[in-house]
Amino acid sequence: MRISNAISRRAVGSIVNYTVTESLLRPTVVRLLEWAAYHHMVERNSDNLPIEVQLDKVAMLKAMIHSAEAGFSRGLIGPMARNKLAEVFLGKIVYKPKEVRQEFVEKHGMRPPGFVLLSPTARCNLKCKGCYAGSDATRKTTLPYDVVNRILNEKVKLWGSHFTVISGGEPFMYRDNGKTLLDIFEQHLDQYFLVYTNGTLITPEVARRLGELGNVTLAISVEGFEKETDDRRGRGVFRRILKAFENLRNAGVPFGISTTAFKHNCDRIQDDGFIKFFFEEQGAMYQWIFQYMPIGRSFTLDMMVTPEQRLRMYDRTWELVRERNLFVADFWNSGTVSSGCIAAGGAYGGGYIYIDWNGTIAPCAFYPFSVHNIKDIYTDGGNLDTAVFSPLLTKIRNWQREYFDDRPNYERGNLLVPCPIRDHHRRARAVVDEVNAKPIDKDGAHALEDSAYGRGMIEYGKKVDCLSCSLWKERYLAPAREKQSA
Ligand code: SF4
Repeated sequence: MRISNAISRRAVGSIVNYTVTESLLRPTVVRLLEWAAYHHMVERNSDNLPIEVQLDKVAMLKAMIHSAEAGFSRGLIGPMARNKLAEVFLGKIVYKPKEVRQEFVEKHGMRPPGFVLLSPTARCNLKCKGCYAGSDATRKTTLPYDVVNRILNEKVKLWGSHFTVISGGEPFMYRDNGKTLLDIFEQHLDQYFLVYTNGTLITPEVARRLGELGNVTLAISVEGFEKETDDRRGRGVFRRILKAFENLRNAGVPFGISTTAFKHNCDRIQDDGFIKFFFEEQGAMYQWIFQYMPIGRSFTLDMMVTPEQRLRMYDRTWELVRERNLFVADFWNSGTVSSGCIAAGGAYGGGYIYIDWNGTIAPCAFYPFSVHNIKDIYTDGGNLDTAVFSPLLTKIRNWQREYFDDRPNYERGNLLVPCPIRDHHRRARAVVDEVNAKPIDKDGAHALEDSAYGRGMIEYGKKVDCLSCSLWKERYLAPAREKQSA
């Protein structure tokens, strides 16, 4: 009998929960988890994906495991956070519940989406340059608490999804009917939340409550050090972020950083001094890098990292992951880890959909077009699956299949340029036209009308593809090509 069958999800969670508290046993747990990752991804490789793509996934998982181990060793993960990481993250997200997923597969012929990205409020206490959501304090729109609850309950019931990502606006500004974001976390203790926040509202009291709940990790936005962060986010913000880090460390809440890579700061956010400061001195356990996407407030193509910088970032990101075991995910240089674009629920499931403060549903936070609103869907008797199988999301998943999933290993589409909206803009726009999708806000509408923007994005995509395709072919496709011609 396979080990994976013999040990139940719950048992794995409990064993890991117990053993991580015993520092002598932790190295054994780390080795066991690394072995399981390699066995599952590379030796079993049940989706038969290119081996180098699978090895990237193993490297990222290893980095994730080591980050967690460092967090435990340094006392940065409190008792409740440890429980929830073991029971929910490991027991329900890594080892997913089979029954609900199987039901979904039988009904729809694909695996269910993995999570929802929810932006429950447009309000924000800051006014950052280039904010993708265009948020500020004057925008009051907020998703009703009962709708948020229904979405969260439904994704568990329909998809077996216990992971939720919260973004904004500033999520900690959320208020509805006397309820706050903390009430949402408390009401859904069977889910694990990743929250993107500017960090300025993380008081000792908020951090303490997060520590007691245990089912939340925060990704706090920084742009570099004080100068770069305050320049984009406002004076004094960096110091407030350092205070938030301290509060989270004291409360045992795991946290990481979220960085937007622009042309002017992309080297800064990956250099040794930056990594040492945030990972070693401040206790960040991960870094998300979002290469600036020209949507949202005052968008401009001039701020994007150049194609050459993007390739340089690829080398550096993977050096940090493969050689230093740091959990650094770079959108879009980490495209192999997710097997490409995960918008619209993902071609074979596991991906996500985006729901904003109006209830508008988009394939992705960076794909600002929509055909559905969750409030209307509920009024009409539908549910989250109504959105997943809308013409817009279905067409995007079809593109993902044509591009990567439904091809033989030796000619899979280049996952170093996986993003339809950024790297294959012509196609993304064609889908929008074909289903008559509407922009989700005025910036989306502006982008649609601005032909120079469209041309610039198409040119950008071609250039990045051209620069990265030899790396893609030589590193990722060549082994399958050799096997094919042998
Ligand atoms: S549309 Fe682009 S940003 Fe969104 S999930 Fe796909 S690759 Fe990522």
